[in-house]
Amino acid sequence: MINSIAKVKCNGSVGVIGSGVSGLTFAYFLNKLRPDLRITILDNQHKNGGWLYSYTFKDENDNGKEVMVEKGPRTLRGASPGTAIIIDTFEKMGQIEKVQTIESNCTANRKFLLSTNDKLVQVPNKLFSMNTFNLLFKDPLGKNVLSSVLFEPFRKSKPLTKDETVHEFLSRRFGPSNAISNNFLSAIYHGIYADDIKKISLEKTNPAFYNLEKQHGSIIKSLFNSKANNEPNEFLVKYDKYFNSENGSIFKLHTQLKEFPMLGILGGLQSLPNMIADQLIKNSPNVHIQRNEEIVSLNENKKTNRITLQSNKDKNTYEFDHVMITSNPMKIKNLFEGEDDIKKELEKAKSVSTILINYYLPNKDVIPKNLQGFGYLVPQINENKEKLLGVIFDSVIEKNFKPFEEGENILVNDYTKLTLMLGGHYIENLSENKINDSKYWINTSKSLLTRHLNVSKTDLENGHWEFTVAKNGLPRFFVNYTEWSNNLKSLISSKYGDKVTMGGMGFAKGPGVPDVIMKSLHDSIALSGVENKE
Ligand SMILES: Cc1cc2nc3c(=O)[nH]c(=O)nc-3n(C[C@H](O)[C@H](O)[C@H](O)COP(=O)(O)OP(=O)(O)OC[C@H]3O[C@@H](n4cnc5c(N)ncnc54)[C@H](O)[C@@H]3O)c2cc1C
Repeated sequence: MINSIAKVKCNGSVGVIGSGVSGLTFAYFLNKLRPDLRITILDNQHKNGGWLYSYTFKDENDNGKEVMVEKGPRTLRGASPGTAIIIDTFEKMGQIEKVQTIESNCTANRKFLLSTNDKLVQVPNKLFSMNTFNLLFKDPLGKNVLSSVLFEPFRKSKPLTKDETVHEFLSRRFGPSNAISNNFLSAIYHGIYADDIKKISLEKTNPAFYNLEKQHGSIIKSLFNSKANNEPNEFLVKYDKYFNSENGSIFKLHTQLKEFPMLGILGGLQSLPNMIADQLIKNSPNVHIQRNEEIVSLNENKKTNRITLQSNKDKNTYEFDHVMITSNPMKIKNLFEGEDDIKKELEKAKSVSTILINYYLPNKDVIPKNLQGFGYLVPQINENKEKLLGVIFDSVIEKNFKPFEEGENILVNDYTKLTLMLGGHYIENLSENKINDSKYWINTSKSLLTRHLNVSKTDLENGHWEFTVAKNGLPRFFVNYTEWSNNLKSLISSKYGDKVTMGGMGFAKGPGVPDVIMKSLHDSIALSGVENKE
């Protein structure tokens, strides 16, 4: 747990670097708790939402019809407590009709893996099913999996006191064939972190595995022995206490949402930051959003005992009682000019970049009937010369959306919308020129879609293509990340006292939208001082 940070004096001021979901939700929660505080959100982009970018274009192949493609995140996990907070916010802001669900038994919840024979194989949703049989006994990915699982309970348990990579852990538990890591979990790590399972920290990304081994001596044994955790989630307890007028309803909402593997938002996920920004501008005279301003330095003004931020726009200078930083840790090194200890720590921060290719074809669904689903991920066992991480079938997801509250299903004409995610750890040594070579990546995507989904050349040529590089989009959670981030936080705290908070993906439990919102909730409550009053 992060220590409580001191409250800001009455009518004090707070600066927030970043108008992504972290910065906006932090400002929104803080303003609710402390309407007296003057909050200024500063962002270097012209838009809200950071990586949340629901981009609309006019499709020249379809009479200029407006089409939205996601150039960043698109779905929320129903099981995450942060998702309950997001959906409650939509309800409170009168926009619940935008919330869409994917039911667990629907087509869009079918997930595939790319096998070593270049064919897609379905991931079973149930343990005892035909899909399990096919995967284990007929597909090359199934090789050594059953024996790895069966022998796991008999492998000596020696939980380490130090951190290790997820791959090392799986290798220790499931044996040297590495089938569980190479054939399966590496694909999930591609989907969430765009990173290499052989480089990622177990402690940061999957502490549950570590704890299960410690408690039960085996992951498989724990499946039979561990009791369900019925403790209410700590973030929801706080949310219920400080934000929920109808006591307890957030817990019911969370239970309800757990039924849905995924949720989406009509108009795209960027509707969330846009909705919050609109509300703040309309209803919160003490909150201001300044765009197109990059903060280039952060200093303490010893005379005023406040924090000074300097932006690159007209050399604007701001002074605040408290500053919240939501940027990716890799991008903030230059803020701390002259602070060698902090800069040295920040030099260790790393990120991964992903290349996103959106493909849209009107009036036709080119995804084969037997492969309709959420999409597919690529495990690291594949040679993967094209550096593909996964493909999301956006049109299948959208066509299976059901309104969360009573309402009509959206009737849609047939179309195909796909997003290919490439790069991640595979491009860390690639030159900028190669990474930004849109023609190369779009051509690569075309050949992948032909091979994996049998999409015809004509359909590929008739589609609309978008190319985006999410440069340093996700932090790399390297081994000993938790120790590193705690160390960084204490260096910052010893230099600036309680006047600077670190938020965003690098300091939340995970990199997802619900994770960073829970972090913002926590930080806003801590900063507001409401807890100290009790
Ligand atoms: C390609 C991709 C796909 C993803 N898919 C999913 C998904 O499906 N589901 C999910 O839950 N999550 C997903 N994520 C993660 C999700 O995008 C993050 O959880 C979310 O963007 C975090 O929001 P944030 O506000 O913390 O950071 P950001 O989105 O990075 O926003 C930070 C903001 O701060 C601004 N900024 C940074 N430095 C400065 C500075 N010095 N001065 C001024 N402004 C600054 C940036 O321009 C940006 O606007 C994905 C991420 C990526 C990159």
